[in-house]
Amino acid sequence: MRDFIDDNYIENILKQAKDPDPERVCEIIKKAYELKGLPPEDVAFLLQTENDELIGEILQAAHKIKEDIYGNRLVLFAPLYIANLCANNCLYCGFRRDNKELNRVALTMDQIAKEVQVLEREGHKRLLMLCGEHPARSSLDYFMEAIETAYSVKTEHGGEIRRINVELAPLEVDGFKRLKKTGIGTYLLFQETYHHETYKKMHPSGPKKDYAYRLTAMHRAQEGGIDDIGMGALFGLYDYKFEVLGLLLHALQLEQDCGVGPHTISIPRLEPAFNAPAAIKPPHPVSDHDFKKLVAIIRMAVPYTGMILTTRETAAMRAEVFALGVSQISAGSRTNPGGYQEDSSEAFRAAQFNLGDTRTLDEVILDITERGHIPSFCTACYRLGRTGKDFMDLAKPGLIQKFCQTNAVFSFKEYLLDYATPATREAGEKLIQKMLDETFKTKRKKMVCDRLQKIEDGTRDVYI
Ligand code: SAM
Ligand code: SF4
Repeated sequence: MRDFIDDNYIENILKQAKDPDPERVCEIIKKAYELKGLPPEDVAFLLQTENDELIGEILQAAHKIKEDIYGNRLVLFAPLYIANLCANNCLYCGFRRDNKELNRVALTMDQIAKEVQVLEREGHKRLLMLCGEHPARSSLDYFMEAIETAYSVKTEHGGEIRRINVELAPLEVDGFKRLKKTGIGTYLLFQETYHHETYKKMHPSGPKKDYAYRLTAMHRAQEGGIDDIGMGALFGLYDYKFEVLGLLLHALQLEQDCGVGPHTISIPRLEPAFNAPAAIKPPHPVSDHDFKKLVAIIRMAVPYTGMILTTRETAAMRAEVFALGVSQISAGSRTNPGGYQEDSSEAFRAAQFNLGDTRTLDEVILDITERGHIPSFCTACYRLGRTGKDFMDLAKPGLIQKFCQTNAVFSFKEYLLDYATPATREAGEKLIQKMLDETFKTKRKKMVCDRLQKIEDGTRDVYI
């Protein structure tokens, strides 16, 4: 498949939108409220807006769109790094081949099972499994065995992992077909930068050098039957305005060719990483102000695509952007393989990058609950086959609210009973009561109350 990102086109629409007419920007903001998304030319106008008052309106619009489509829920997951050997040399990553000082680790199945036990005992139900790209020590067979291992681990209180999303190097269609059979949720892969020249500079050697092969991986995944896809760009490598348009063009191409766009977009910002020159001094650092703006613009451009924010960001920054459109977050993360069992400084020398938010899962949950967000561990859609286009068809008439909000309450209640500290439990019960009073109406409210009672009585894994 051909490379479909045209740098000149992106640069041209950004040039044409420079110093935008405020009236035109207001019209685009108004259009975004219709929840139909925005074309790249309109997005370029929003990106080129530097007027604080108009940016305020952009943030307000994103907040309203997020509330209308996703309500107050935030889905939680933990990353699980299983190996850090890598044949690539990405200049921003601690796992890069030339980092000779990194402790190299490929976890055994037994070690993976122990990591999963720790995560389950904290209350996690959703994992993102990832590793470096190493044909011998991180092969597809190894990765698939790791997925099977993680799904098989059961702990007390019905502790189990119910959805494993994966982030690993691009595969051929046959590889994706095999991966699909392990029962993965979403396949994630970040293009890192959509700017060709920067991509070339940042990936000097190894299989990842090939821009087009990486770009077209999502199409191959779809061909292999994986219809939940997660895209991303690593913000800080090149101009954020260019990257947002790259993401949007990628999403539109996928939608046009495969009938469904991405399920999620990830928005990692470069973090300092051990012996990684581009991470220590990012070539195009994105300020907090611009980061909030870009999150809001993505929310307006692709309203039904979930947005993922990780513990790369600080607690304060995370709190600010939740309201602007983020729908999934990681919590209690480690980026070194084996890091959930061992937390020594020696183990840390195996980490991919530094974390901005080092709080435990329970601390994050208490914080977001007190801010009025409902934490969700729900995995219902994927287990009921509501994926890809089926999910989007449900999402568009507003059904995310109906299913996801309800399932969020059920999965949160289970968390509160089985894993929460007393303070979190108290705050959580209060939030659930508030939602029963304000969010759920008569018939639905009765159904929700009945099922909450069943959970109190010991039933687990309740969802609709
Ligand atoms: N090795 C695979 C790959 O590169 O696609 C799997 C995922 S890699 C472990 C996860 C992601 O971490 C990369 O795609 C990159 O965007 C991100 N990453 C690497 N170095 C980073 C850094 N210094 N700060 C923030 N994110 C980083
Ligand atoms: Fe390897 Fe991925 Fe890190 Fe690049 S980003 S060095 S491919 S682990």
